[in-house]
Amino acid sequence: MGLIVQKFGGSSVADAERVMNVARIVTDTYKQGNDVVVVVSAQGDTTDDLIEKANEINPKAAKREMDQLLAAGEQISISLLAMAIESLGYPVISLLGWQAGFNTNSIYGSARIKNIKPNRLQAEIAKRNIVVVAGFQGINRYDDLTTLGRGGSDTSAVAIAAALKADKCQIFTDVEGVYTADPRKVENAKKLKEITYDEMLELATLGAQVLNNRSVEMAKKYGVELEVLSSLNPIPGTIVKEVAKMEKMLIRGVTKDKDVALVSILNLQDTPGIAFKIFSKLSSKNINVDIILQSFGRDGTKDIVFTVSKDNGPVAVELLEGMLDDCKIVCNTEVAKVSIVGAGMESHPGTASKMFEALYESNINIQMISTSEIKISVIIDAESADRAVAAVHKAFIPND
Ligand code: ADP
Ligand code: ASP
Ligand code: MG
Repeated sequence: MGLIVQKFGGSSVADAERVMNVARIVTDTYKQGNDVVVVVSAQGDTTDDLIEKANEINPKAAKREMDQLLAAGEQISISLLAMAIESLGYPVISLLGWQAGFNTNSIYGSARIKNIKPNRLQAEIAKRNIVVVAGFQGINRYDDLTTLGRGGSDTSAVAIAAALKADKCQIFTDVEGVYTADPRKVENAKKLKEITYDEMLELATLGAQVLNNRSVEMAKKYGVELEVLSSLNPIPGTIVKEVAKMEKMLIRGVTKDKDVALVSILNLQDTPGIAFKIFSKLSSKNINVDIILQSFGRDGTKDIVFTVSKDNGPVAVELLEGMLDDCKIVCNTEVAKVSIVGAGMESHPGTASKMFEALYESNINIQMISTSEIKISVIIDAESADRAVAAVHKAFIPND
């Protein structure tokens, strides 16, 4: 018995039958004597549909209005789930983000949680209510609604678990846990029993959508142990924690991220301070740069190539064209980043070459490489990305 936070993603509450299924999971947990706080996302593709509706009217709509719109998706889910729980005969109350005390900064569309005022949550729990909270949203200092960025409900759940010092935080989704690759794309992907926060953070950041990376960052910071599990199949999932048992695997997973643009600045004057000028300009406009490659200077010129998110590609080109002359700037959005992640690779020198060999054998050209202690990423042609993931996965994860 204890306090349990359970989060259900969009597919887990997609229709009436799924909402009733969630209501049963929640009430079963409550019946065992636990206090339960439930965090839900918008139903199915609701968030995408709302974005599409906005785009039909004004593709450049103010971000404040976008948040006002998108927050509606989660409002629908909490009330429907509360009705479902009520129909099973249990005491329940639904709360929007602001009612649950979520205070955020004012970066509409990707707001950060500043704090959670837990009074209302605690009061409802004390009344033995099951509390259903809208994920993905909060309120800023101007009393305006904000949203936390795509996939943000995971972060809402972890934040509540941290604020209330919950005994458990369970992230229910449409797969049975965290796998060595997206199980919907890679046939032989294996479910992991355990994974460390650091490895999960890399996987999430590099494209494994199953957990939002900010949620993992927050779970690590506050020591919230997470379980990722299926809302449709009641079997144990994957535990995300500080120290995880290795399962005789050199790597934990392979990911793909197609949200990449490759910007090349060619024949740039090779003068001191030029890299500083370029990247400080980009950072002043909040453009996050990922991988950077600079060529050796020749004949007084050099090339600098870097990656940014897809929508920032053209923005970066426009900015740089305004400040650099005598060079050529091109942006390629038909690229993808494929990565391997695992703490084990630190002590295994052959890891990178094994990855490159797998790509070579599949005739896939590597355009850029970036490494850290626990990951190796390559930039390749977008159209080869799925093949690359399959080939690299096959090279590292034994088939059984
Ligand atoms: P939810 O709506 O529950 O938040 P998401 O769609 O955000 O669910 O995340 C679950 C999806 O993440 C799965 O359906 C799966 O296709 C995808 N996914 C990508 N990489 C992985 C991975 N390594 N392990 C598990 N799922 C993954
Ligand atoms: N509904 C939001 C989204 O689709 C938040 C979430 O699902 O976590 O991104
Ligand atoms: Mg999600």
